[in-house]
Amino acid sequence: MRLFWHRRDLRIADNRGLAAAAEADTVVPVFVFDDDVLAHAGDPRVRHMLDALAELRADYRARDSDLVVARGDPAEVLPDLAAEYDAEAVVWNEDYSGLARERDARVRMALDDAGVARETTHDAVHHEPGTITTNKGEPYSVYTYFWKKWRDREKADPFEAPTADDLASVTGEELPSIEALGFSEPEADVQPAGTEAARERLAAFRADAIRRYDEDRDYPGKEATSRLSTDLKWGTIGVREVYEATAEAMAAAEADGDDDGAEAIGEFQSQLAWREFYTQVLWANPRVVSQNYKEYERDIEWRDDDDAMADLRAWKDGETGYPIVDAGMRQLREEAYMHNRVRMIVASFLTKDLLLDWRHGYEHFKDYLADHDTANDNGGWQWAASTGTDAQPYFRIFNPMTQGERYDPDAEYISEYVPELSGVSAENIHSWHELSVGRRRQLAPKYPDPVVDHSEMRERALSMFKRARGEDEEGAEASAD
Ligand SMILES: Cc1cc2nc3c(=O)[nH]c(=O)nc-3n(C[C@H](O)[C@H](O)[C@H](O)COP(=O)(O)OP(=O)(O)OC[C@H]3O[C@@H](n4cnc5c(N)ncnc54)[C@H](O)[C@@H]3O)c2cc1C
Repeated sequence: MRLFWHRRDLRIADNRGLAAAAEADTVVPVFVFDDDVLAHAGDPRVRHMLDALAELRADYRARDSDLVVARGDPAEVLPDLAAEYDAEAVVWNEDYSGLARERDARVRMALDDAGVARETTHDAVHHEPGTITTNKGEPYSVYTYFWKKWRDREKADPFEAPTADDLASVTGEELPSIEALGFSEPEADVQPAGTEAARERLAAFRADAIRRYDEDRDYPGKEATSRLSTDLKWGTIGVREVYEATAEAMAAAEADGDDDGAEAIGEFQSQLAWREFYTQVLWANPRVVSQNYKEYERDIEWRDDDDAMADLRAWKDGETGYPIVDAGMRQLREEAYMHNRVRMIVASFLTKDLLLDWRHGYEHFKDYLADHDTANDNGGWQWAASTGTDAQPYFRIFNPMTQGERYDPDAEYISEYVPELSGVSAENIHSWHELSVGRRRQLAPKYPDPVVDHSEMRERALSMFKRARGEDEEGAEASAD
């Protein structure tokens, strides 16, 4: 008998560790609610996890087995469960954050002490951290080089799901309620969880938007991205299954002579590689969770007084008076999700317009995103804050109004999430900061005035970064985006 310990791989299909365990022996599937891990979670993420676990359990029950659930420290729970089921080994898929690796090291020791074997494998990424390196054998800090190697490397095929014969006939306890885990039902409408829902999202994307991905992905109103991030975060779909679908879609586009479509699919694959790039950044530098990746000569002097905290509140509440920023922050509250272009805009706004430490933003995203993934979230924030590996140079500062106008020209997305602006023309929405107070009151009496002046804050941001870099304040040439 082998225990298979599910963590962020809540599926039975295309699960490398589970397939390996089933190949070797009869499997008892296990999930452990670990309070140390839950301490870092937010309501939407826990809701999604519980929904995904319910689907996983149903998949096991359909195979005359069940998911055994327990609560506690895995280093104590797993040796006990191994004894209870007379299992000679515990099998799991590796996780790459510092916290996960510390926990796994403790579990390994506890199992060694109990005389239970342990087997681990890599599943969450195609190419595990440390296998795509520079010629000197170091992890990449520049995405483009990483991507070229990632793209050219062969990908494994999806792994078979276990059958009823591979699984032990066990009965698990019911799943706890969200309240019993110390969380509340989220205010957000969290997207359906589980492999079936993920497969539906993948199939819908593949049938329609994938060939236009390159062209449309930056426009939040077009809903042209896959929405697979939460599935990939929780592992309700396997990376090999997703990649295989993209490879088939690319072959179909090529057969149709649709070169642009094939190129767009390549662009989508490169987003999958970003996920693996940030995974290896985190794996090689666990400290980035709380520290800048880039060292500055002096600490960046982020604002942190009472006024700054009031601005942080306005940002969190989607009340900054910058329509595209507010739309994004409200989408986050409503859906536990935000479009990528808008994540970039709100993150730039927090760090370069409000001059607030990226860690405030990261923490808020961690609480509110269902797809919060330590590596990607941290990578995204440090990119926007110009503190990360392959970051936006500090002198390229997004203009939130221009960004809104460029990527939501008809203000479709803004009007969806900021109803106070729904009767206002796109032109007025995109020049909100330039309108007189009287005109703003007349157009949308309930929508706030801009909390800061972008041009002024941009200058302050440039000075702040130059000081931190120990540069002459006349230094670098600024550019706006
Ligand atoms: C400040 C900030 C925070 C972010 N936080 C997260 C996070 O917590 N979790 C998360 O999964 N992504 C995060 N991202 C990356 C990106 O915004 C989301 O992955 C994407 O919006 C999810 O939507 P989708 O699945 O439709 O993406 P698609 O465009 O369909 O992309 C497919 C998949 O590729 C991966 N991917 C796409 N873009 C990126 C990227 N820039 N970095 C890493 N992986 C990427 C994701 O797994 C995504 O599901 C963040 C980006 C920024 C700028």
